[in-house]
Amino acid sequence: MNLETPLVELDFVPHLRARQLARFGLVTVGDLLLHFPRRYEDRREFDKFPTDTTEGAVCVCGEVTRTQLKRFGGSQKMFDVMIEDSNPTAFGGRLVLRWFNQHWVEKIFANGMRVVAYGKPKRSGSNMTIMHPDFEIVEDDAEESIHLKRIAPIHGATEGLTPRLIRWIVWSVLEKLTDEAVPTLLPPKLDPVSRAWALRQMHFPESYESLEKARRHCVLEEFLRMQLSVAASRSEQQHEPGAAHCGSGELMRQLHAALPFPLTGAQQRAIAEVQHDLALPRPMNRLLHGDVGSGKTLVAMSAMLLCVESGYQAALMAPTQILAEQHYLNFRSLLDPLGIRVALRTGSRREGNETPLFAGDSTPQILIGTHALLYEGAGFTKLGLAVIDEQHKFGVLQRAKLRAQAGDIAPDVLVMTATPIPRTLTMTLYGDLDVSILDELPPGRGKIITGIRPPTKLPDAAKFIRTELEAGRQCYIVYPLVEESEKLEAKSATVEFEKWKKLLAPMPCAMIHGRIPPEEKEQIMARFRSGEAKALIATTVIEVGVDVPNATVMLIENAERFGLAQLHQLRGRIGRGGHKSYCVLMTSADDPESIAKLQVLVETTDGFRVAEEDLRQRGWGNLLGTEQAGKTTFRLGDPIAQLDLMQLARNHAFLIFEHDPTLSRREHAGAKQLLAAARKATFAQVS
Ligand code: ADP
Ligand code: MG
Repeated sequence: MNLETPLVELDFVPHLRARQLARFGLVTVGDLLLHFPRRYEDRREFDKFPTDTTEGAVCVCGEVTRTQLKRFGGSQKMFDVMIEDSNPTAFGGRLVLRWFNQHWVEKIFANGMRVVAYGKPKRSGSNMTIMHPDFEIVEDDAEESIHLKRIAPIHGATEGLTPRLIRWIVWSVLEKLTDEAVPTLLPPKLDPVSRAWALRQMHFPESYESLEKARRHCVLEEFLRMQLSVAASRSEQQHEPGAAHCGSGELMRQLHAALPFPLTGAQQRAIAEVQHDLALPRPMNRLLHGDVGSGKTLVAMSAMLLCVESGYQAALMAPTQILAEQHYLNFRSLLDPLGIRVALRTGSRREGNETPLFAGDSTPQILIGTHALLYEGAGFTKLGLAVIDEQHKFGVLQRAKLRAQAGDIAPDVLVMTATPIPRTLTMTLYGDLDVSILDELPPGRGKIITGIRPPTKLPDAAKFIRTELEAGRQCYIVYPLVEESEKLEAKSATVEFEKWKKLLAPMPCAMIHGRIPPEEKEQIMARFRSGEAKALIATTVIEVGVDVPNATVMLIENAERFGLAQLHQLRGRIGRGGHKSYCVLMTSADDPESIAKLQVLVETTDGFRVAEEDLRQRGWGNLLGTEQAGKTTFRLGDPIAQLDLMQLARNHAFLIFEHDPTLSRREHAGAKQLLAAARKATFAQVS
């Protein structure tokens, strides 16, 4: 037996169980052993029966003395199981385990059974009660050594498979598996214990100390696997055929000279870094991040001019059509005087067959469009540089698509993010990119004052906004999308619009949301940009990049529904001119969590601090949301909390590639295996 052995081939695992495990995604011995317990119960010594409500959960063992099913109000059911302390010296311990409407538990319990129960006890009347506890029936004394008198693993289970059953199967597998069949993949320099030991301890720890050691080993293995794949793609990128896409810089100098302001030091630094990369005959892969309003577009534009000057095309891909259109106008106004041909390719124009692919000249030097440019024949003739103004993660797959669009030679790639990224994350999410940071805002930016207000203050807020508008300023009113449906979205937008039109009358208002056709959207934005419309009532379509320096007030309704980074990004739409700006976070939430979140924005406008705080509050697990990549990459590790281990893995991975890029040395056999596993996982995600 080894880690590849399918569980169905093991005679001591009943077929039915092996099939259930397979449905659960656990096919091989290795899969099973990497299905780590979701928690542990210290069953060496059970907790005393609680006599009052406790902060945390308790784990007790007792004997069933009574069960009781109560029905009330139609089909409502309550099922109580009374257990008593089976330790005769601790007289008097009693506890009620209680379930509501859980049909399945009713058949399980009988008087005299021994039960281990886990949960948070609460006093209710004269009883101590645990609602919907985790529990396990203690069935067979012969197997006590597996299930009791130890730190017992509680594995994630599923219908038909109880934690007890999985524990027994894992135990049996570990009994039969020799240490030789489990090669250690981590170099001993990184971690002293063997993989076989670590896996055994993860499931059946001898002590909490050895569990910690085992966990460290397994987390490092995950991190090293990931960093090896990062290091591998870095090393491949470096050997990929590329071309230099860097002109003399004359056009760029003309652009800079025509600007009404000097570049910030950070912009100059970033441009120099990009220029250096562009001049090398290998593909650039660079991340440009910085706070909202730090002037990333100008860095991108400079890079694109360098590229155009060397005879190649440059493309800018924005996450939304509004942004693509705004970039287009911005580029046209700055680059027309230099005689650069800029073209816009938008979704709406693509739909008509008659219309040309590009608005503007048919052989554009600079193309601007949405990310769709990547996926559809964009008509690049000679793409030298792609700038991705990103919203979502731009990963390996997208890069591959881009290459396919660009021909044999990989283009240079510059990824721009909307908000700053904590260092912790650049190393994990963008580990294969070089990084440029704009850590400086242009001088003379207006201050932003942020406040939290309950909805009852809406009239006051409206009054305040009106005075600002009367003084010649403009404002945004943002509300979150509650409904996914098209009809309801349009309806709620209309309701909001009517409400605000009344509140701000007679000021001219405009409304924009996701369901408005693109041409109309552009007209509305133009009206707001020109100052004809004073207030823009909007969903988050204005989130990224919209740039109207005269707008000085933003009111965000139901602010608690937005994430911190998103709120910061929204707020970045104001404070762009010299005037003092105001952001009102309207919320009816009064839970400490929501308030703490919003309070961060009251305290700081520094995007790096907001990003760190966001990460701290939400943790790694939630950060990527539905994005599968994050979840499947790490079962155990938390790259935020375990940054030191990530750093260790990273240094090690890069060191290995530096000395042995093909991983052919014997001591790198483990690393090679880890890399193969990482690649397999990536492919699994693709298909
Ligand atoms: P972001 O980094 O959020 O994408 P933008 O590139 O949209 O920021 O720039 C925000 C605003 O700042 C734009 O109006 C731009 O013209 C202006 N800007 C950019 N660089 C400077 C600078 N060095 N000094 C003053 N204003 C600048
Ligand atoms: Mg931008």
